[in-house]
Amino acid sequence: MRIRNNILAAEKKYNRPTGAVSLLAVTKGQSVCVIEEALKTGQTHFGENYLQETLTKMTELKNEKIIWHFIGAIQSNKTKLIAQNFSWVHTIDRFSIAEKLSQHRAELKTPLNICLQVNIDQEPQKAGVLISELSELAHAVVKLPFLNLRGLMAIPAPKDLAAQHLSFQHLNKALQMLNQEGLKLDTLSMGMSDDYEAAIAEGATIVRIGTELFGTRLGVKS
Ligand SMILES: *Cc1c(COP(=O)(O)O)cnc(C)c1O
Repeated sequence: MRIRNNILAAEKKYNRPTGAVSLLAVTKGQSVCVIEEALKTGQTHFGENYLQETLTKMTELKNEKIIWHFIGAIQSNKTKLIAQNFSWVHTIDRFSIAEKLSQHRAELKTPLNICLQVNIDQEPQKAGVLISELSELAHAVVKLPFLNLRGLMAIPAPKDLAAQHLSFQHLNKALQMLNQEGLKLDTLSMGMSDDYEAAIAEGATIVRIGTELFGTRLGVKS
């Protein structure tokens, strides 16, 4: 896949170790056929935003080895099905949701990998915890028994290249701050179709890419 080559090239260009950045293929609004084609190329991590849409796909793809990541907005009445069907959740921005996900994960053998979503550009309408409230949330969430707090995620406001770098730097700094406070976080989920090169330059470990991989979405929703 072209994107994989671009990721490798960016790792090299910005002195990141080879393989430091993993590709999350975002398939919201895409058909099961699209996922099957991507599986044939060796892709195993898939990101989805809408629970119902994903559950339908999961049924059709139940024989495939797929690592599902939830990257959409989380309503509290959906936490049970999210906790039980996904390996990762990237979009946690409040304790009550984290607590419910942990409770519902209890019966599974492995903890749910999670990232805290940070509202990195302090946009009024956008989801995500503010940097000023991040430390308190992280230290509370890390105590929950059936979650594995892996790192941070953000969707910066669209902007020019220099400003993209700055937002991603801020998220990286926030991760380092939490690690200095004693947490052991290894994941920066940042970078999408339009800004993943800047994200890789600034330390992304997961880039979440849809449009650049699969073209325009059909608009399937939950
Ligand atoms: C849709 C989506 C993506 C992928 O966006 P593209 O611009 O299509 O690459 C990545 N992350 C999140 C959280 C999304 O909702």
